Amino acid sequence: AEANVGVVGLAAMGASLSRNLARHGNKVAVFNRHYSRTEKLIAEHGDEGQFFPAKTLKEFVDSLSKPRTAIIMVKAGAPTDEMINDLADLMEPGDIIVDAGNSYFKDTIKREKAIRARGLHFVGCGVSGGEEGALLGPSMMPGGTEESWKTLKPILESISAKAEGEPCVTHIGSDGAGHFVKMVHNGIEYSDMQLIAESYDLMRRGLGMEPGEIGDVFEEWNKTELDSYLIEITSEVLHEVDKKTGKPLVDVIVDHAGMKGTGTWTVQTALELAVPVTGIGEAVFARGLSSQGELREEAQRQNFEGPTGSVEMPLEERQAFVNDIREALYASKIVAYAQGFNEITAAAKEYDWNIDLAAVARIWRGGCIIRAKFLNRISDAFEAGDANVSLLFAPYFKDAIETAERSWRRVVARAVTFGIPVPVFSSSLAYFDGLRSKRLPAALIQGQRDFFGAHTYQRVDEPGTFHTLWAEPGRKEITL
Ligand code: NDP
Repeated sequence: AEANVGVVGLAAMGASLSRNLARHGNKVAVFNRHYSRTEKLIAEHGDEGQFFPAKTLKEFVDSLSKPRTAIIMVKAGAPTDEMINDLADLMEPGDIIVDAGNSYFKDTIKREKAIRARGLHFVGCGVSGGEEGALLGPSMMPGGTEESWKTLKPILESISAKAEGEPCVTHIGSDGAGHFVKMVHNGIEYSDMQLIAESYDLMRRGLGMEPGEIGDVFEEWNKTELDSYLIEITSEVLHEVDKKTGKPLVDVIVDHAGMKGTGTWTVQTALELAVPVTGIGEAVFARGLSSQGELREEAQRQNFEGPTGSVEMPLEERQAFVNDIREALYASKIVAYAQGFNEITAAAKEYDWNIDLAAVARIWRGGCIIRAKFLNRISDAFEAGDANVSLLFAPYFKDAIETAERSWRRVVARAVTFGIPVPVFSSSLAYFDGLRSKRLPAALIQGQRDFFGAHTYQRVDEPGTFHTLWAEPGRKEITL
């Protein structure tokens, strides 16, 4: 028993993670249901470090030193459950099973409880960065016990991405906390991508710019506070020319956005926790609308009237508008992150997790899809205690929002007149205006609720619960 860590499941993700582990001096036991994948990994990459290939799961477990640490990277759902149980049958108290797949955090909570009852540790670990991240350094979000973290820390720190020299991995909290935070990361990723897409659409259809030209704009934006992986790859995608037709590649890609479910989970969970995550929600719905092929085709046949973009503008005004879009993107992005962090805060309360939000922001600075320069500002804000209620209230972000505010309004107003949908720009602005409003029309809603359902209301000028007898002549108010 020599291996200090093992990987089960050697498809794209598992193979990359094993190689990353071996390249960083770990002794890595590897197992796959079909041995052919194991053979392939050893044949092609066996010289990258020390691997211990196993033909059976028993052989795999026997090759691990204690406490045994096994990372599962098999298909999500039933196969993951099967593998957890098979491993638990062969392991001993104190051993650690890590599920590094994209599991739903409530499944992780259940699995952790079941495995803990058997005396073993179960760690749900969110991993971001895709196949390339798994190989070159992902951002990792492990949950589970403090005790298991002691064993996992040096292993995971050895393979994680590094941001300004710091490993992009930290113990997020107990049981499902890691998978929860990974889920919100993906939700934020949806809103980031949608905001970039809305900016592109405004330039493309609103200003009639070519994809390459817009790619240049994103390249410039990547030198500002928007500096991020997603802005960088957007510029590359927009510069890509299709080999077959010679057209910009983006023009020959079908405009139906796919999704695998983590964005939907983020919104479902936010609804359960009653936390408005409008940025993420609208981003998920926008993908949904794009993929409703039949509905969209029928809408085309209806030939609805209205503007469809492309407006003539003098050069100076165009440049000013492009700048407005950048400001609106930044402000909306801050709102989406503020909402995402609010969801984490609410879940931490609900599920009794002790989550260090500054640390979460820090480990998102490298390896993951939403990695961005401005996460430094977010971790600073949480560290200073300025963002406990909302990121929007931390001085740096408050200032950024106030600077962007006019541009943001101009962009949303213009998008509406152009007939270009900007669901995340506009809903983020609505959220901000909702927060700013001293009084909301919620008072009227309370009146309506009391009218039809006797749901009662509170008064601004005295304590207590009130109900109006709406059907009585003279509309008597009674105190309950
Ligand atoms: P797949 O999701 O395609 O799963 C294939 C692997 O699962 C193979 O090793 C396969 O073994 C194994 N497997 C399937 N069914 C069983 C079973 N019943 N018993 C045992 N093994 C089984 O692999 P990926 O590498 O794409 O993804 C692995 C995990 O990582 C998934 O949970 C996925 O959601 C997650 N993921 C995470 C990403 C991220 O960025 N964090 C990106 C992509 C995936 P065999 O070769 O024998 O068929």
